[in-house]
Amino acid sequence: MPFEPNKVVTMNYDLKDADGTIIDSSRERGSLSFLSCTNQVLPKLEEAMSTMLIGTKKNIKLDAADAYGEYNNDALQVVDKSAFPKDAAIEEGIGYISTAENGQQTPFKISKIDGDEITLDFNHPLAGVNLEFEVELLDVRNATEEEKSHGHVHGPNGHNH
Ligand code: ZN
Repeated sequence: MPFEPNKVVTMNYDLKDADGTIIDSSRERGSLSFLSCTNQVLPKLEEAMSTMLIGTKKNIKLDAADAYGEYNNDALQVVDKSAFPKDAAIEEGIGYISTAENGQQTPFKISKIDGDEITLDFNHPLAGVNLEFEVELLDVRNATEEEKSHGHVHGPNGHNH
């Protein structure tokens, strides 16, 4: 059972990969608040959290397919070095953002350099990674009318405008 719509859910989390390395954490930024049923967090994570009691912690494991997707070889693209601006730093592992004419931004990274042939990887950085979330559910409350109409959370750790 997912959360009901229009709930503001506040959580602390540590996100680890399969080796137990912490990839992301709310510790430094402060707790994360999100509006339920709006895909602001991974849907499978939200679903697993919906049965938690406030104040409790839970270890939630998500397979890559339930998180950021399996690694997709079709998301690799080989381009010629000349496709990059002359002064661009071209190095394996570096991340870029390409901006299309319509303004849509697509992140990618350089996965391989072979002479003038450069392999770009458009997979999500966490594609193919099984994830483990250590979640502490801090609060669940009803969203205000204003939050509902804006589609995001206001107040501490939410929007500030
Ligand atoms: Zn707002």
